Amino acid sequence: MIYHLITTPECNLCCEYCCGKSFSEPKSKIKFESLPPLPKYSQKELDDFLKKDKIKPISIIFYGGEPLLNIPFIKETINAQIKYKTVKNFLLQTNGTLLNELDKKYVNKFHTILVSVDGGKETTNKNRGEGTHQKVTANLIEIKKNKFKGEIIARMTIEEPTNFYQDIMDLINPKDEINNFRFNSIHWQLDANMWHDYKKRNFSQWSKEYNKDVTKLADYWLGEMKKGKVLRLYPFLGIMNSLIFKTNYLLRCGSGVENFTILTNGQISVCPIMQGIKEKYVGDIKTTNPKSLKLKLSITGSCLKCDYYELCGGRCLYSNLYPAWPKSGINEICLTTKHLINEMKRIKPEIEELIKNKKINKKDFDFLKYNCCEIIP
Ligand code: SF4
Ligand code: SF4
Repeated sequence: MIYHLITTPECNLCCEYCCGKSFSEPKSKIKFESLPPLPKYSQKELDDFLKKDKIKPISIIFYGGEPLLNIPFIKETINAQIKYKTVKNFLLQTNGTLLNELDKKYVNKFHTILVSVDGGKETTNKNRGEGTHQKVTANLIEIKKNKFKGEIIARMTIEEPTNFYQDIMDLINPKDEINNFRFNSIHWQLDANMWHDYKKRNFSQWSKEYNKDVTKLADYWLGEMKKGKVLRLYPFLGIMNSLIFKTNYLLRCGSGVENFTILTNGQISVCPIMQGIKEKYVGDIKTTNPKSLKLKLSITGSCLKCDYYELCGGRCLYSNLYPAWPKSGINEICLTTKHLINEMKRIKPEIEELIKNKKINKKDFDFLKYNCCEIIP
């Protein structure tokens, strides 16, 4: 299975759609407990828990807040696991601003680094603060120079009024000559149904433009494949993988299925966003057997009757449990999901033809399952 390890709940940025929006939220009906700033369990306790997990490979995603605010814990965990050999893959989800502070000997051990960027300089800095894009891309260029061989995935959070297609192009083919890190792997996530902000937003109108951009991007993706290159655009890659290989998923992000989060107090939640929601904890590393975690919490309601459920999986367990948007807004999100899936079905025959003619390889659609890309935006 795959586990998010919260190295600290604290962060060094205050991004627009995360900390920024939290200031204008109505008083929450959800009860949050505050969590220790640093992990309160030992490496031995962690390993004893992980060793009981029979679903291999075991992977760890260092997560926060901003995980690199607790570099000693990251080093300690990697060092301990080199000794214990229980964990196969280490991943990091970071805002990228502190990557230069981790020794290359540790950076080069990551299977995947997911970096939060939302597009080019303008879009990213607007959401994350002036200078963030420059700092992050400089750090990525540096780790490549230091021979990092793993996958680097841009993790975009998108919402109106951004121009989605242009933002993706700015990551693939940056115009900026100084900060010109090129991403081959991108995942994007809609900032939708996470906050009580639907009435303040123009999602309805924007989502129509977004759908048009998804069509345009699907054509671009196919065009690149005709030249022999499969860009790792995760929402496309994940759905196409299922269409080609007939792979089955429940929830595509894996939360509550084979993906869990170990909090700093040693409690286990189904997803990193649900840190502190005590009523939904599903276990504790000291007393729980990983086997018993699976499907303690899962998608309910209208998704189970939806024709797209098999490929969509219900999109997001957190929003399914705690919907923040009215039904009409949720339906608009579902229309975007259905559109994306339909687009993949549209281009699938041409992709199969390219595979048959050996222009591209079936293997190009492989990825580490539940690698922190939720697949359904
Ligand atoms: S498209 Fe909407 S209703 Fe259908 S499974 Fe996905 S989230 Fe549920
Ligand atoms: S999609 Fe939802 S349930 Fe899954 S990891 Fe993201 S917030 Fe959690």
